[in-house]
Amino acid sequence: MAADCLFCKIINKELPATIIDENDDVVVLKDIAPKAPVHYLVIPKKHIKDIQSIQKEDANLVAKILFMVQKISKKLPGSQAFRLIVNNGSDVGQSVFHMHWHFLSGKKMQDF
Ligand code: 5GP
Ligand code: ZN
Repeated sequence: MAADCLFCKIINKELPATIIDENDDVVVLKDIAPKAPVHYLVIPKKHIKDIQSIQKEDANLVAKILFMVQKISKKLPGSQAFRLIVNNGSDVGQSVFHMHWHFLSGKKMQDF
C-alpha cells in the first residue's frame, strides 16, 4: 500500500471500481475511460511503480498476472483475441504509477 495511490485505494476498497476478477495477488477492473469495447486493467495488489521497478522476488507475481490475463481472455465472448499494453513512464502515457497491464479486446486492431 502506497499513500495517495489510486490503485492501492481501489484494491483496499477505499474507492469503487467494477471488479472483473480477483485473487490474493491480482485484481482486474474495468478501465473508467475505455479505449475498446473491452478495456480492463490487470493490476498486482503489491504496489510496484512500473516494469522497471520489478524485482527478482516478483517473478512469481508477474507469472500470476499473465495467468490471470489468460483466465479472463478465455471468458471473452466471440473472438478471444486481445492486446496487452503496459506504459512505463509519463513520456509514453503512464498516468497511474502503480504498474498495470491494459487488456484490450472486442474490436479489430491493426496499427499501434
Ligand atoms: P496509464 O495511463 O497509467 O497507462 O493508465 C491508467 C488508466 O487508468 C487509464 O486508462 C485511465 O482511464 C484509468 N483510470 C484512471 N482513473 C481511474 C479510476 O478511478 N478508475 C478506473 N477504473 N480506471 C481509472
Ligand atoms: Zn499502489
